[in-house]
Amino acid sequence: MLFKKKKFERLVSLKKDVRDGILSYCKMKHPNECILILRGKLKNGNITIDSLVIPPFSETGPTFAGFPNSFLPFDLSYVGVVHSHPRGSAEPSLPDLFNFFGLISLIVKSPYEDEDVFAWDSNGNSVKMTII
Ligand SMILES: [Zn+2]
Repeated sequence: MLFKKKKFERLVSLKKDVRDGILSYCKMKHPNECILILRGKLKNGNITIDSLVIPPFSETGPTFAGFPNSFLPFDLSYVGVVHSHPRGSAEPSLPDLFNFFGLISLIVKSPYEDEDVFAWDSNGNSVKMTII
């Protein structure tokens, strides 16, 4: 087994308007992948995502969405990134885990509806998410 499944107590709270913004951005970029930076706060192990930033110098294609980490300004409010999977599941790929940025990774699968958003930690474990 590639990834050990273990109990993970961290909880992600995603603001509803941020979730809606992610979904419409993914739909707009489809069939290409899209990537956005998540801003928020970490408190008592729980992550609250309250806004989005379009990354500078992002390049996207049908199977790749990324940006050079070195171009990102050092900003403690950046808690992770969200990207889309136009095809297939919302499970993180090996490159996704290799390029993990921040504390949390959200992946949205097509057709980008409310229930198509999933949260993952840097080990590829599923993280519980609530919409606030
Ligand atoms: Zn991916």
